[in-house]
Amino acid sequence: MSERTRSAELAALTAIAAQVNCTQDLDEILRGALQTTLEVIGEEAGEIFLRDEESGDLILHTYQGVSEGFIAAEAVVGAEECLCGEAIRNGRLLAVPDLEAHPARSRQACLREGFHSCIRLPLLARGQVLGLLNIQSRRGRYFTPEDEELLTAIGHQIGIAIANARLIEDAEKRRATLDSVMHSLVDGLILVDRRGRIAYVNPCAEEMLGLPAQALLGQTVEAVEREMAGRVTQPEQVIGRLRAAATDLQNRPTVEFTLTAPSARSLQARFFPIHDAGGGHLGLGLLLRDITREKELDEMKSQLLSTVSHELRTPLASIKGFATTLLRQDVEWDEATRREFLAIIDEESDRLSELIGNLLDMSRLEAGTLRVEPEATDLGRLIQETAAEFQVMTHSHLLQASLPASLPPVWADPRRARQVLRNLVENAIKYSPQGGPITLSAQVQGDSVQVSVADRGIGLEPQQLERIFDRFYQVDSASTRRVGGSGLGLSICKAIVEAHGGRIWAESRPGQGSTFHFTLPLASTVDL
Ligand code: ADP
Repeated sequence: MSERTRSAELAALTAIAAQVNCTQDLDEILRGALQTTLEVIGEEAGEIFLRDEESGDLILHTYQGVSEGFIAAEAVVGAEECLCGEAIRNGRLLAVPDLEAHPARSRQACLREGFHSCIRLPLLARGQVLGLLNIQSRRGRYFTPEDEELLTAIGHQIGIAIANARLIEDAEKRRATLDSVMHSLVDGLILVDRRGRIAYVNPCAEEMLGLPAQALLGQTVEAVEREMAGRVTQPEQVIGRLRAAATDLQNRPTVEFTLTAPSARSLQARFFPIHDAGGGHLGLGLLLRDITREKELDEMKSQLLSTVSHELRTPLASIKGFATTLLRQDVEWDEATRREFLAIIDEESDRLSELIGNLLDMSRLEAGTLRVEPEATDLGRLIQETAAEFQVMTHSHLLQASLPASLPPVWADPRRARQVLRNLVENAIKYSPQGGPITLSAQVQGDSVQVSVADRGIGLEPQQLERIFDRFYQVDSASTRRVGGSGLGLSICKAIVEAHGGRIWAESRPGQGSTFHFTLPLASTVDL
């Protein structure tokens, strides 16, 4: 060692160590380390490569005092091919005092750049080579054992910095992955620490409970229960069951409860214990699942059962009654009465078969197999036929078709379009018990034909209007109950119209009648 003093070496090492300890940015650390190393060793040119963890390739990370052309040649170096490879394989510093005399292939690029001596310094941490620091010298230079010793120590320092940076990067990646999992969870998740305070709330739980994370974090579960009590139905029972569940973690019982705000919904809560890797108790987790839809489905199913059994029994009772009456041996029925009874049996059988048809459609809808087979269809004719068909069934209503001189064909399944029309007209008759006009009209609106069925019947309240296309929905007043029905018709109409790419809606005022509209696409606008 010539001019360089021991204290300068120490200063360089300390500078690198300080940077490693107080900076987290690996780029900055490596740039600073290269500069300090070159300064202390009295050279101007060098590079640092990092080793790709998967391929093992050396990838240039930072450099100083070398030309772009030289860098381009070195940007990605196969670890096996060169001086670098040798240093990496040995895991030890490689000093080349005379490049000209060295057999390695890669020395040509160094010689072209005017370098005559070089150092290849593996950057090591826990015995692994994580990168390489190259020092290029334009003089033919002999590196002393002291130089090598100092550089080896520097190599270890930088190696540790790289290992730490990778650890931090890994931890960051894991945290980000975990964060996105928590954010994408469709269930609510709340974590409670050992002291019983809420330590984490995912966005879904915030939304379900209608409380921002800030209002929950650090709170005890009891405080949150008190805060929520006003929005839970039967709060005392629910809180009691939640507390019991939180202490019975072995069986992980579920507690169901209903919230009235921010939106009415049913939730299912389940506690689970959280342990660390050694089995130590860290706290509790609480999973919240929105079961509103399941509850609704359950309710709808039981409603369906009662409606269907009622709806099946009524026409069946009537068919059975009239058939039994007609079969009586002891009474002679005149022809007119016999025909009347048979007409009732016929009508009631139609009602039965319609109900069964609706149920089949509904199950197809549920299974996603309700298919439509559209073709160019003359909707005007369907409207006229439907009006005529229903006119013969009622004397108190006047069915009118109001159509333009010519109506272009629509792209629709004629059987299904007829089904929608029939359903709307049937409802119009059913829900205008006093009789009156029922108008079926159609007109071209942009790319579609809009069909409207208007009655002057009992009409609907605005809040009923919102729900009539829901499955099984019936305005459950005495007047609609009397006329019977399953509450399936309009939801099937909606599914059929939407399967054609159309829209269905209604306008109505209580006591003033209703108008149902739906659209079907014009055949001319459909790309075949
Ligand atoms: P339903 O078999 O009960 O008629 P729908 O699905 O066809 O079932 O209709 C759902 C509900 O919408 C009916 O129960 C009724 O309350 C209401 N509704 C349908 N059409 C009319 C109408 N034209 N006027 C008034 N209310 C109607």
